Parts: sequence; structure tokens; C-alpha cells
Amino acid sequence: MPYKNINFTGLKPDSEPNKTIQHPVMAPSTVSSPIPNGTETSKTIETRLFINNEFVESVSGRQFKVTDPATEKVSASVYEADVEDVELAVQAAKAAFPAWSERNAVERAHFLHKWADALEKAADEIAYLDSITMGKPAFPDRLAPMVPIIIRFFASKALDITGESSLNSAGFLNVSLRQPYGVCAAITPWNAPIMMLAYKVSAALITGNTLVLKSSEKSPLSSLIAARCALEAGFPPGVLNILNGYGRPCGEALARHMEIRKISFTGSTATGKAIQRAAAETNLKSVSLELGGKSPLIVFEDANMEKAVTAATISILMNSGQVCNATTRIYVHEKLANDFIEGVKGAMSAMGASGNPLHEGTMRGPQADRAQFERILSYLDLAKQSGVSIALGGNRESSPGYFVQATLLTDVPEDSRLVKEEIFAPVLIVNRFTDEEDVLQRANDTEYGLWASVFTNDISRAIRVARRLEAGSVGVNCTSPVLAMDMPFGGWKSSGQGREFSRYATDYWTELKTVYFAY
Ligand code: NAD
Repeated sequence: MPYKNINFTGLKPDSEPNKTIQHPVMAPSTVSSPIPNGTETSKTIETRLFINNEFVESVSGRQFKVTDPATEKVSASVYEADVEDVELAVQAAKAAFPAWSERNAVERAHFLHKWADALEKAADEIAYLDSITMGKPAFPDRLAPMVPIIIRFFASKALDITGESSLNSAGFLNVSLRQPYGVCAAITPWNAPIMMLAYKVSAALITGNTLVLKSSEKSPLSSLIAARCALEAGFPPGVLNILNGYGRPCGEALARHMEIRKISFTGSTATGKAIQRAAAETNLKSVSLELGGKSPLIVFEDANMEKAVTAATISILMNSGQVCNATTRIYVHEKLANDFIEGVKGAMSAMGASGNPLHEGTMRGPQADRAQFERILSYLDLAKQSGVSIALGGNRESSPGYFVQATLLTDVPEDSRLVKEEIFAPVLIVNRFTDEEDVLQRANDTEYGLWASVFTNDISRAIRVARRLEAGSVGVNCTSPVLAMDMPFGGWKSSGQGREFSRYATDYWTELKTVYFAY
């Protein structure tokens, strides 16, 4: 099972918030959505923007189409937010901020718990909508169970958002306070739409901020279920606003907005840099970035090879290889290399079969969209042109659908773009090494630093290597997608700045203020 090591502490709120439940405005049906969970039901799909607790059409009335990557057919036509819609959402969030930030933290936690309950009930709908937009296997949906856990984790942090006090200056009591920024923004990618939304919204709201979130244009539908669930949970108007839209103009308008004081972004390094530039050119808003990766996994000669093979295979196949911290570069000791390559080849063939993501039991769906698909094929062409050894796969699968074969490349030159660049696909590279110092140098020879792993049975070596790897997280005898809610997650180098999860996550959603009391 990919998700081990999940832990969180639940908190029962000791006071009840105001129970003003806002009623959803019913959406015009654009698509009928059969939820294939055994009992066929039909629901309308919401495609509007969520501003001030209402689903509204965009000011321009413009819509964009979302395509099902398994069938290449249009799934829905979705309202597109532009600069005017961003303005409406920011003003709603601004109006909501004073009352929201003045509430007891446990009251805010209570809303989050209700939101988690509502999202838990909507799990099948969410799985279906992510499947018909970005191709994630719906049954089982491996990410859905994480969503309420994440929200409840942040709800449990309600009473931990505190500063420090000091009596070290004679005649003074000095205290530091952690206060919300005010109106904040979040921009999410398409690869795990609802999970990214859940942790950004929960951390922003529990700390007393109000939020405008832009979902990815490739997978906007499930975020609107999260909006409906916010209504069901009784969120006050304006506390959470969700916009469908493109990076330009919608995302850029958020990044440049003078009244937004903090933006949290997950996506590619190139976009992260654009957001950082936009912030610098406007109001120097605080920026947190969770960006890309090209994560190494080192297998030493004393490692448990079977475990390493299985872990490496799950890591690269999960979500069709579209995981930021997937281990994409394996360095295996020469003594094990041939057996390891044969092992991975067998495991990838056995576990890597693709299928319709709506069919129960499908483990691997298509790539998210045509752009991603074509990008991946261009890397596979590069592998062929440069004479790299292709031990498995290397081609597209039969159409329709953006399906790529699970691919294993071996002995790839370290300066190849295949080794340097994030491919975001079920494409694994296995290279060989003999010397610890040399492999550390090669593992670290990347601009990315999101994740790294080492497999060895030598504890001293494990500690030595874990310490030297330049990454925000290191797996020892395990690899991504292992995750623990109470541990910080984030990147070194060009993989980002700031941390999600753990007690550090809420720090990134608060400003620090020092108050000096003279007595
Ligand atoms: P992307 O950068 O293309 O898009 C991410 C989001 O940014 C989308 O909502 C997009 O509309 C928006 N955007 C695009 N241009 C913008 C601009 N100029 N201003 C503001 N917003 C803009 O990334 P993607 O293709 O959606 O996601 C894949 C990338 O995300 C990969 O690089 C992956 O590694 C990374 N990722 C990182 C993490 C992490 O936690 N580190 C998690 C998931 C994905």
C-alpha cells in the first residue's frame, strides 16, 4: 500500500460555532454525471465560479472545455474566471476576513471538521470528476481517503498557533504574536487536485485567513465539489472562494493583486518563478512554492533488493508517474544492477498495465492531457534518437486516450535531458554506480531537491547518505509516496520554499508581530 505512516490527532471542538448554513444556488446542468459505484445515479456537474458562497457565471460569460484523457472527448464546459472575477472574489474574502479572524480557533476548526465530513461523503463524486478530467483511477481512488485526514489534521492545530513570551529585557514583558495575513491566494496543479486544495484551504483558514483559490484548468470540477461541501459545512460567505481559470489571466491576477498578502502555489518550477517575479514586481507578497522534482533513489549492494524493486516500481507508476516526488532516477550498485533491472522490468510489466480509469481496479490511467502526452512522447523520441537502452516500453499505447507505456531506460548519460528534466510520466531511469562518493555527487547534481531515497542495510551508511542528500525529504529503505502528516513536506533548491503539513505549515500562513510591554 502506498500510503503508510499516516498519523494525525483529532480534536473535538469545545464550543459550537454559529450555525448559519448557506444554501447552495443550484447549478445549470451542463453534463450528466453517472457515478459508477454500483448504484448508477445521475448528478449535475457544477461548472461555475464559487464567490461569496454563491455559484456564479464568470463576468465575461466565457467558458473553456475540459477533455477526458481516456476518451479524448469533452467532459465539460467550464466558466472561466478573468481579472474582474478575481476582483469580486478578493473583495468577498476581504469583507469576510474581520469576522473570520476574530473567531475562536476551535470554532474555525469546527467548520473544517464539518467540511471534512461533507468531503468524505462526496468521495465517489470527486473520484469520478478527477477521472474524467485528468484520468486518475477512480476505484480505488488512492488519494480520496487522505482528504478528510488532512483537513482534520489542520483542524487539530487550532490551539497550536501561538507565539513566544520573554522576560529577558529588564522592565519589559515581550511577546510575539502569530496573526493571519488577511486575504490570501492559493493556486493548485492538476495531478492531485482535491488533496492539494484540502491542505492549502485547511492551513489558510485555521490560521484565520480568508482565501481565493484557483484550481487547475485541467481538473477544475472536483474543486467545485469542495465548494459545495463548504456550503454544506456552513462556511460564512467569502471565507473560501474558488475560481476556475487559466494561469493567465486568472492566476497571474492573483499573483499581482495588491490586496493579497500571501500566495501559496503548487506546480511547475517555471510557473513558481513567474509567481515569485509577479510578487516581487507588485506588493512583495509572501510566496510559498511546492515545485517539481527529479528525485534520486540509491540502492547499495547490501540492500533488500526485492523491497527496493517494489518501492521503485510503485513510486514511478502511481498516478501514471505524475507525482512531484516520484523517484525517477535510480542509482543501483553495479553488483546488483542486472538483477535489479530485470526485477523492475518484471514488476513494471506486472503492475503497469493501464486501463480505463473509471473501471474498478484500474491501477494506471492515461496521462492528464494532450499537452502532457505530447511532451512525454518527445522525451521518448529523444531516448530513441540518443541510442539510450530501452529495457521496457518507450511508446504510446493504442488510441483513443493519452496512454503511454510504462517505460524503463537504463545507462542514460548523466548530462542527458532525460536525467536532468522532470518528465512527469511512468518513465524510469536506472543507472549504475560503484562508489558512494560518486553516487552522492550524481544524485545531488540537479537543480531539484524535493525528495531522495536510499536503500541499504548499513545503518551508518544510511545516516551518512541521508545527511548528504540535498532534498527536503529523504526515504531510508522506503520511497515516495510515503508521507506523514506531522512531518514537514517541501523542497530544497529549485523544488520550492516553505513547507506543507506539520506544525511548520501553519507558520507559513501567519505573520509574526512582536509587542513590547513596559512595566
Ligand atoms: P503548472 O505550473 O503548469 O500549473 C500549476 C498551476 O499554475 C495551474 O493552476 C496553472 O493554471 C497555474 N499557472 C500557470 N501559469 C501561471 C502564471 N503565470 N501565474 C499564475 N498561475 C499560473 O503545473 P502543472 O502542470 O499543473 O503541475 C505539474 C507540476 O506541479 C510538476 O512540475 C509537479 O512536479 C509539480 N507539483 C509539485 C508538487 C509539490 O508538492 N512539490 C505537488 C504536485 C505537483
